[in-house]
Amino acid sequence: MLNSVSIDNQGTQPWQHQPDSGLVGGDLLPEDAKNGNKNAAAKWPNAQVPYVISSSFSAKDRQVIASAMAMYHQKTCIRFVARGTQKDYVKIVRGNGCWAVKGRAGGGQELILGDGCVSRATVVHELMHALGFSHEHQRPDQKKFIVRVNMIDSL
Ligand SMILES: [Zn+2]
Repeated sequence: MLNSVSIDNQGTQPWQHQPDSGLVGGDLLPEDAKNGNKNAAAKWPNAQVPYVISSSFSAKDRQVIASAMAMYHQKTCIRFVARGTQKDYVKIVRGNGCWAVKGRAGGGQELILGDGCVSRATVVHELMHALGFSHEHQRPDQKKFIVRVNMIDSL
């Protein structure tokens, strides 16, 4: 069923919808200097991420969010599951901008999808943060991998 959903990708990126804030890289709550969250407590047990979705989202928005989760289900072992009694979960809510908390934070942690943020690409992006990943281009060790090219030698 989800595979037949037409995705309205608005062609925008999460950082294009941000309020002026102290968010890291435009859409992460400040936390630590690691690219991925290596803290075992921040990982989701059994690769299962309980979630709830605010009733303020339209049926179409919910389809887009579901299609983003379906991508994870198709390509990874990660499973987003509707919250039952789990203590830790992701609360997908409307708000200002689009951003997320990196990794499992404990309790109900918000994942914000504001105006212009409900596209499959953006939801996949923010869910990746909730799983514990930062932006690859902001890795603390990025300078180790920059290759210096001497342009004079190449002319
Ligand atoms: Zn991001």
